[in-house]
Amino acid sequence: MINYCKELIKKHLPNWSFGYHKHRLSLARTSHRYKKITLHENLRKSKNEYVVRNLIKHEIAHAKSSRAGHGKTWLNETNKLRTADWAKKKKIYVIKEKDGGMSILLNKKVKK
Ligand SMILES: [Zn+2]
Repeated sequence: MINYCKELIKKHLPNWSFGYHKHRLSLARTSHRYKKITLHENLRKSKNEYVVRNLIKHEIAHAKSSRAGHGKTWLNETNKLRTADWAKKKKIYVIKEKDGGMSILLNKKVKK
C-alpha cells in the first residue's frame, strides 16, 4: 500500500513526498509548504485500498489546486483523478491547517 501511495504521488506530483502523521483528528493531510501528503499513522497497515486510494487522490487534488479548498478548481482535479466524491456527499469534514494545509476527516465509516 505504501508503494502504491508513493507511486501515485510521484506520478501526479513529481516533487512531492509521502509520509504519515499523528494528528489525532485528520486521516489525510496536504502540506503545501513541505510539499508532502500524509496519512494518519493508523492507516499504515490498512488493507482498505478503496479508502486509502481515495484519501490520497483527494489530497493530490488539493496539492494540484493550490489552496483553493473544495472549490471548482479542486473539483476539476478530483474529476480528472476519478476521486470518490466524499465532499459532495458530506461524508467528510475539512479543516484548514495553520500552515495552509488541508485535512480531511470522515464523519462516517466509508463503505465499499
Ligand atoms: Zn479536502
